[in-house]
Amino acid sequence: MHGGDAVSRTEQDRETVFFCVPGTLVRESILLRGGHVVDPSMNLDAQLDVRMHGEVVSAVGTLAADATEHVIDVTGMIVAPGFIDVHVHLREPGQEWKETIATGTAAAAAGGFTTIFCMPNTEPALDSVVQLEELKRRTDRDAVVSVRPIAAISEGRRGDTPVDYRALAAVGAVGFSDDGESTADSSVMRQALAASRELALPVMVHCEDPTLTGGAMHEGYTSHALKIQGLPALAEESIINRDIGLAALSGGWLHACHVSTGRGADLIARAKSNGVRVTAEVMPHHMTMTDKWVGGRRDIEHEQGSDGEHFGAADQDTKVNPPLRTTGDMLRLREALRAGLIDVIATDHAPHARHEKKGRSFMTAAFGLSGSEFALPLLLSLVRAGELTLREVVRGLCTTPARLWGLNVGTLRPGSPADVVVFDPAETWTPHLKGTVSRGINTPLLDTELHGRTKLAFVGGDERYRDW
Ligand SMILES: [Zn+2]
Repeated sequence: MHGGDAVSRTEQDRETVFFCVPGTLVRESILLRGGHVVDPSMNLDAQLDVRMHGEVVSAVGTLAADATEHVIDVTGMIVAPGFIDVHVHLREPGQEWKETIATGTAAAAAGGFTTIFCMPNTEPALDSVVQLEELKRRTDRDAVVSVRPIAAISEGRRGDTPVDYRALAAVGAVGFSDDGESTADSSVMRQALAASRELALPVMVHCEDPTLTGGAMHEGYTSHALKIQGLPALAEESIINRDIGLAALSGGWLHACHVSTGRGADLIARAKSNGVRVTAEVMPHHMTMTDKWVGGRRDIEHEQGSDGEHFGAADQDTKVNPPLRTTGDMLRLREALRAGLIDVIATDHAPHARHEKKGRSFMTAAFGLSGSEFALPLLLSLVRAGELTLREVVRGLCTTPARLWGLNVGTLRPGSPADVVVFDPAETWTPHLKGTVSRGINTPLLDTELHGRTKLAFVGGDERYRDW
């Protein structure tokens, strides 16, 4: 148990309600009783009860059930603020065969995410006020979790003409990104970063040198063994380096998406220590899988890697951009997250139809993994292996993103919106071809036994996911 005022008071007085909004101990409340509450925003890591009243969390402590309230015994489960995924591809509008707002947000809820930021590489791209308003109309109708849009950096994501950053911020954009590729024109990036300074919103960059593309997996020993054209780590590192320089020049907020290389993490760490406004995210797959997975390796927790092993045919469901890297990169990313040098854990949920992955050769298959439903079990594998603590996982999944973006969620502090997730860290389950909530079943984890499953997810006190 970690210290903190709240916890020690619980130990002294088993009947004390120590976080409470006055006057809310009445009807229409739900008591989550007996769970292990993990909330770094309140320094909580202990067995406690959580009461939700209407749309808000009303109390956290050792609580006596009110006669009228609905009590759910969550003993043995973890209770945390609902997760926030700052990197999701919802595919709607324009590519609804891959995913829709309805299925993508349902998959998010199934993964424990109660707020998601959606990337603008839809068709049309989210590059105008009209497009953001249309998206809002659709999410108001179909979304089961909170959706915040990321607008494009450039018109049509073509990289040449900046969008109207101020107008897009005014209608709810939480950042700007041409994700899918880098903005090659440094002057456009500089303008975006200058606007980001003024608007206090990040430019969220996919870091990949557009002249070093063409490969399909990490360039290294395994790509040579499999005779597949590689994507060098340098492609990521050189653009991280450029964009850090532009952030320093403009004073803007640079957010490096899906950092996958150890050197990329090092560059971000150094920029932070130099006072550059840079934040970064890492994906569960880059912390648990390596390029050897492309050739058939499937060991989540004890990746050691040995050159010279036999590889099978390249698996299209491991093809992702940035690609799965080396064991050394993977270990360095875990270390950077633990140290807070990488700030946020996000999924890069990138659903595709089966025919766009398994129906094609490895070279021509689409890049991307379905991520929403698999993030939690992958992260819990790292907790079981002693690589991350639950607090570090929850910090990366909600406390830090809420703080960076100034959201009023990501905390169980009474009075906050009741965005809450309950998960069983031990439950085993096996994803199958027909069993996912997302339309995207593009994951190398199919038919693999996973540990850890979302049991309940509440958004503003409304139950949006149940597996009970
Ligand atoms: Zn990307």
